[in-house]
Amino acid sequence: MSLSTARLINELQTFGVRLADPKAGVESRRGGAGPSDHKALTLDGVTVMTPVHTAPAFESPYVVEKPDASGRSTVKRDGVLIGEVSFPSRPRFYDLKTAEGIPYSHIATLHGRDVLATTVLQSCIRYQSRTKACQFCAIGQSLAAGRTVAHKTPGQLAEVAKAAMELDGVTHMVMTTGTPRGRDRGAAVLAESATAVKNAVYLPIQAQCEPPDDFEWFTRLKAAGVDALGMHIEVITPALRRKLMPGKAEIPVERYLAAFAAAVPVFGRGQVSTYILAGLGDSAETILDLSAKLVDLGVYPFVVPFVPISGTPLESHASPSADFMHSVLKPLSEMIFAAGLKAKDIKAGCGKCGACSSLSTYERRLA
Ligand code: SF4
Repeated sequence: MSLSTARLINELQTFGVRLADPKAGVESRRGGAGPSDHKALTLDGVTVMTPVHTAPAFESPYVVEKPDASGRSTVKRDGVLIGEVSFPSRPRFYDLKTAEGIPYSHIATLHGRDVLATTVLQSCIRYQSRTKACQFCAIGQSLAAGRTVAHKTPGQLAEVAKAAMELDGVTHMVMTTGTPRGRDRGAAVLAESATAVKNAVYLPIQAQCEPPDDFEWFTRLKAAGVDALGMHIEVITPALRRKLMPGKAEIPVERYLAAFAAAVPVFGRGQVSTYILAGLGDSAETILDLSAKLVDLGVYPFVVPFVPISGTPLESHASPSADFMHSVLKPLSEMIFAAGLKAKDIKAGCGKCGACSSLSTYERRLA
């Protein structure tokens, strides 16, 4: 894997792409948690979530031509051929419904190439109030549009996970959740969901939540079948946290560091990760300084470029430049590699999937 591939991924995630055929590939999600307004594209063997419905994507210099019957296509920049891309095929589990008639795709979706992703609770204590909500979040949009259900039951998750594994060969699962009321911050609902999935099928699971008040939850999550844990800092600088995520900023970065120190002995080095959004104002130095602390703790810092989602307060905020991402991800990959924390060794989750960032492509160049 070369630096030029990593840099091209940075460009595609900064600018997005225009699709000559908007129906190409797996239908993209609009709204919701995680990568929205994106499509999965495979480039040089790497599957990348690429913005297609964002404002910058409509003016992107990159155009993906209509794919052939097998999903293969080309990407051009200002008319000049850049390379070949392909679209992962539509998962077969999307054609199924539960006995009550809920489409499986409203319970969980395919992320990247082989990840099953769900938001167990599609509501959040912070989202109801714009003075508390994270300004980049669209968790309520897909619910309001009827494209998902508010609470995916353990039985529904187990049913869909089994089908997605058997029909589409998914290899790991991401379970995130909006933050409910209560001191567990969603750990309880994630634990009961993981138990149900693991009773149905062997699928490595990453759970994602805010740091719970009682760190005993880490042991309970692990016993429930959770293999890896994500607790997402997202923005680092205190003033930016207060501005961009006023509710969540009540939990300072130091609290996350304490939670990581308690979680790593339970899940293992490299099996605990955090998501950091580059491009919202934190300097490269700030991101790299915190990443060094995280790596020392055995935490994988998954740094992704911020991509604005339509309908959120930050919908007009620019993505970071490809050069900025390069200035962060190249040294970060070297730091991660030197510490022996590799994306490919993570059992499940965003760091393993890697489709929202070129970080793992930078890492592969070192392997
Ligand atoms: S990195 Fe995480 S959020 Fe992004 S596509 Fe993969 S599983 Fe989904």
